[in-house]
Amino acid sequence: MSRIRCYHSPNYEADIGEHVMPIRKFAMVRRAMEAEGLPIDILAPEPVSDADLLRVHTPEYLRAIVTGEPLALAQSQKFPWSPQLAEAVRWTNGGCIAALDAALADGIAGNLASGFHHSHADHGQGYCTFNGLIVALERARAEGKLTRALVVDMDLHYGNGTASLLGTRPDFFQLSIYGNWYKANLAYRDVAAERTPDTENAWSVPVPNGAGRAEYLGILGDTLGPAIDRARPDVILYQAGADPYKEDPYSPLDLDHAALRARDTYVFEAAKRLGIPVMWVLAGGYTKDTSKVVEVHLNTARAAVEVFGS
Ligand SMILES: [Zn+2]
Repeated sequence: MSRIRCYHSPNYEADIGEHVMPIRKFAMVRRAMEAEGLPIDILAPEPVSDADLLRVHTPEYLRAIVTGEPLALAQSQKFPWSPQLAEAVRWTNGGCIAALDAALADGIAGNLASGFHHSHADHGQGYCTFNGLIVALERARAEGKLTRALVVDMDLHYGNGTASLLGTRPDFFQLSIYGNWYKANLAYRDVAAERTPDTENAWSVPVPNGAGRAEYLGILGDTLGPAIDRARPDVILYQAGADPYKEDPYSPLDLDHAALRARDTYVFEAAKRLGIPVMWVLAGGYTKDTSKVVEVHLNTARAAVEVFGS
């Protein structure tokens, strides 16, 4: 097989002190992939430019992230602002752009950072500064590389920032399958009882509290095909969150490593079968033992190799 391209740089990391978001996991996932000798080339992207960010984000918000003023806006994603943070978020978004390009060329590629799905046009949220998914899609669209896209968001949390950005982008579609709808980020709200509404081009699919492998994969199986039919995408962007994992402090779901790997395999196999390029990102994961977060992300890479290796 040809090797899979994945993007990462030490510049993805900023010093955010003791924080619930284990930012060092990006490098840990890279090391784990290298240690296993997976047929994956890990490459450094370029940092994202102002022009690319301004297709998606407001000038006021970009200025706040660059300068740190006003501080409340610069820290709206809940990270302590620093010049290093302002640089790091350019690199992680640049990784989304590079990985999308690689996926369009090769059929599969990954970025060893999140898609930053809570980021809105004019502010950040939930450790998400700039929405790398939409920034990458808009860059590719501006270059004439695609017109339609599907975001398959399987982070534990509802992809609310992406959904808000899709409001003005009818050719892009999101399927968000989530166990926590991110209204107040409570750990155990029952999303089956109170869920985010669908929008014109963002389907909101809650997973009930306590759901295990069969129910979770059943929901994915029932919704992915119709979402692809609806979106008719030129590419799939897959948010492979680690926070649905059963030990995650935010997760009300009963999903082990094997269940999450089966999820990854299902998405990759569907994309391959239909000939739709797919780009994956890591997304959230807050289990206290970070090695378990890394294991979820490593399994996504293993699934990509398994599916696209033949
Ligand atoms: Zn999350």
